[in-house]
Amino acid sequence: MAIDIPLKVKALFRPRLAKRRRPSDLASPPCQHSKKPRDEPAPTPDTAAGDRVSLDLQLSSPFFRDVPIEIRKMIYDLVWRDPYEDAYHSPRGRHIHFQEGRWSNTRCVMYDDDEDLDWIQKNMDRIPSSRAGDMVMWQKRLSSTWGSRHWRCEERIRHERQKSVDQTNFMSMMLVCKRMFPEVVESIFESYQFLFNDIYTAHRFFVYSPSPHVSHIRNLDLTLNLGFHEYAPFITDLPKSRVRELWEALGRISCLHNLRISLDIYDRGPWRKIPEQRVVAQLRDLRVLNNFTLELPPPLPIRVDPPNMHSLDAEEEAPFRVVRRPPLRYWQFMPGEVEHFRWETRTKGQQSHCFITPTREARHIPNPYLIDFF
Ligand SMILES: [Zn+2]
Repeated sequence: MAIDIPLKVKALFRPRLAKRRRPSDLASPPCQHSKKPRDEPAPTPDTAAGDRVSLDLQLSSPFFRDVPIEIRKMIYDLVWRDPYEDAYHSPRGRHIHFQEGRWSNTRCVMYDDDEDLDWIQKNMDRIPSSRAGDMVMWQKRLSSTWGSRHWRCEERIRHERQKSVDQTNFMSMMLVCKRMFPEVVESIFESYQFLFNDIYTAHRFFVYSPSPHVSHIRNLDLTLNLGFHEYAPFITDLPKSRVRELWEALGRISCLHNLRISLDIYDRGPWRKIPEQRVVAQLRDLRVLNNFTLELPPPLPIRVDPPNMHSLDAEEEAPFRVVRRPPLRYWQFMPGEVEHFRWETRTKGQQSHCFITPTREARHIPNPYLIDFF
């Protein structure tokens, strides 16, 4: 297999005479950045000599012998630079997928405009007056499980795309040698923003089959638009939950710098009520150094407090910033017909009911789900 090693790195691997090796190199402990997990002890030169498959410390290489780990990681970071970095909103954003038994990653191609959580509906607002645009297509984006930010990224992987935009040096660098492999993986985890858009991939990555280097992740973005069954354990107090296991795994990452978690529910139409307090209870214990944002569905127009479905109280002190998505005003209630609607409430006695009224039709669509929880 052809290995494409950048020239600057390749130069550091030119063989040198062993006479420049210093005894202090062998005696010096590994720096903090290259500490191995407990179950993976660092091999000694003796074991390396006696066992052909063990790790060779590559001390004849000036790259490992003379360059400290901090500088080596700066070099790796330069290797990761590519011409598309400045073309999109997130210069180092990579969407992670586990599909058909293998891992893949694609570049995040969202633009600055996509940070506006109402941007899709604003585009839908313009369609009737401009008579340009396809409401059904925008509705599909609005209801995408990838969230409003990453609809471009989702469409890219579902259709023909320019493969060069996704190219990285990851594999070529990881194949250089066993000595370099862990440093390269750690550098990837530290240098990129990892984006997950489905619970299956995120659970597999952090819980089911985690990399020993996963604790090096610094920037993480989880968009979890889940089915009702994923939230049900929080309502009925069932112990088994992939969401709980995922939060526990995130708690083991000691040096998260930036974390955004976007939660939503996809199989309840525009009625997007989730058991917020219970779902996010574990998140209060996460340690995030810089920015920690929790994004939640818009609140319903009426206060709804069925058992275990309480909303997160924004007034309550939390170690994260709570962002609410704007209320939905478009939905496809009938196949092929996207309708603009408004939320209304009606009070009868001591009870209030919330329902949807399409703008162009005199009919009411009641909330069919909330009675599930009484
Ligand atoms: Zn994206």
